Amino acid sequence: MSRHFASLLAIAVVAVTLTPGGASAAPKEKEVDCTQVKCVALTFDDGPGKYAGVLLDTLKKHNAKATFFLEGQYVKSRPAFAKRMAVEGHELGNHSYSHPNFTTIGPAAIRSEIQKTQDIVKQVTGVEPKLLRPPYGMADLQVSDIAAEFGMPMILWTGGSRDWESKNEEAIKKQTLAVAKQGSIVLMHDWVKQTVDSMPSLIKTLQNKGYHLVTVSELIKDQKLEPGDIFPVPEGWEK
Ligand SMILES: [Zn+2]
Repeated sequence: MSRHFASLLAIAVVAVTLTPGGASAAPKEKEVDCTQVKCVALTFDDGPGKYAGVLLDTLKKHNAKATFFLEGQYVKSRPAFAKRMAVEGHELGNHSYSHPNFTTIGPAAIRSEIQKTQDIVKQVTGVEPKLLRPPYGMADLQVSDIAAEFGMPMILWTGGSRDWESKNEEAIKKQTLAVAKQGSIVLMHDWVKQTVDSMPSLIKTLQNKGYHLVTVSELIKDQKLEPGDIFPVPEGWEK
């Protein structure tokens, strides 16, 4: 065998080893096609919250996936929860570092809030968030431009559990079931104990109705969102 051929072979071996999906990659989860089956994306904001560990246990038990829009400051204080979220197949999104209203602070402050959160999530979990949820769902064209700089679309919600308001298990279940429809993105919080307590029964009910609980990215795959886009588009939003 010529030296040249041998080195080509060596390169080919390296290339095969580095191909994603090779033997070293984690086993692939069964994919859910949300154009064929009913899907709902549950989203948990402001975490990792105090009760994230219990929530993660419940999600795992029921084979449900969720999306966590994390605050950088809590990723820093509760890194183990953030790591578990990533390892257990949930999606991690960026929800700023300290939750200011992006429409009332300057562009440098917005950039810093997003960047610091990208950095700490990456450092703690190895994952880089691909989605931004601006605090309070408040965005304007400037926020959209900055989201675009980071290569991220902005994700709001189609319905809320109003959990932070009611702090009542029955009310949270009722409200969530009322807004959970095909393609819904539901806003919840893993710092509300009653939300986490309601999850076993809520997940069972949704699954019995035929819903697959998927991540936001899975749910919106067909939307082909561009960086800086907002989804769902709020009333009065113009670009
Ligand atoms: Zn929030």
